[in-house]
Amino acid sequence: MPVYSVIVPCYNEEPVLRETHKRLTAVLSAMDGDYEIVYVNDGSRDHTPDILNDLAAHDPCVRAVHFARNAGHQMAVTAGLDYATGDAIVIIDADLQDPPEIIPEMAAKWRAGAQVVYGQRNRRAGESAFKKFTAFAYYRLLRAMTSTDIPADTGDFRLVDRQVADVVRRMPEHARFLRGMFAWVGFRQEAVRYDRDKRFAGETHYPLKKMLKLALDGMLSFSDKLLKLLSVLGIGMLAISGLGLLALLILLCCGVQAGAWWLAALMVLCTGTVTTGLGILGAYISRIYDETRARPLYIVGETRGFPADFTPFRR
Ligand code: UDP
Ligand code: MG
Repeated sequence: MPVYSVIVPCYNEEPVLRETHKRLTAVLSAMDGDYEIVYVNDGSRDHTPDILNDLAAHDPCVRAVHFARNAGHQMAVTAGLDYATGDAIVIIDADLQDPPEIIPEMAAKWRAGAQVVYGQRNRRAGESAFKKFTAFAYYRLLRAMTSTDIPADTGDFRLVDRQVADVVRRMPEHARFLRGMFAWVGFRQEAVRYDRDKRFAGETHYPLKKMLKLALDGMLSFSDKLLKLLSVLGIGMLAISGLGLLALLILLCCGVQAGAWWLAALMVLCTGTVTTGLGILGAYISRIYDETRARPLYIVGETRGFPADFTPFRR
């Protein structure tokens, strides 16, 4: 019998948690194997920790991991992966935007051989036109910019096989864009389409600023096109100024005076040199950046509901 783990990152989810737990339990207890639910409390400031401890005290399937401070959604999911023990691991938001009722469908594809089953959104209920448009545009831009095949319109709602989770666990980067990392590892990937519901209660904890950070992490970690753009721009300017200077020299030989144009061509030459230099510097910096990621990704304050001899994955 397979064991299912469900990872639920929670940040100030007091109004929804009990409902989330009820719906998850209803779905999971009807499945073909045992299960555990790993709630990761990402430094919540409301009663989320108390609710989780209460759930852990009354339900042997509940594990609670409490962060010492807010580390962000991606880190909470990362911790969940480190603490999950199942053969198949599901990642789902706490706010019921991702319907737990899709999990059996994901599990069926997994049993049929898929190693990553990601939820792909048909429709987003209860989200602003701005969010819908930016998400639509972003996923397509990201796909155009990276060589990793990151599926459009997918979030972190997915089921992954133990083997895939183990690979992603061993990826140490700090700028974590998990949906990209899961795409990068390969394996057999399949989609399950679903309608994204609106938040059951509470409000989004992904304000524009966090959203932009995640978007940027995705772009910068999975693409160096922006950096290359700088070099290309610089080299382009150098080429243009070179041609301009050549033309001016020819004109000079023919006795044509073009004083101001010399200034313009020299300015483009200087800017081009600086921009190319920046591009080259950037290329080196990006390599240093790739190599120097050593801090722990998150800090766990306490845990509940784990067996006494349990040790999580050590980073
Ligand atoms: N979340 C988290 N840490 C944060 C922000 C969010 O663990 O700093 C969790 C949150 O509790 C939820 C999931 O990440 O389970 C998605 O967050 P939210 O619903 O606020 O984002 P949205 O769906 O609006 O993009
Ligand atoms: Mg949400």
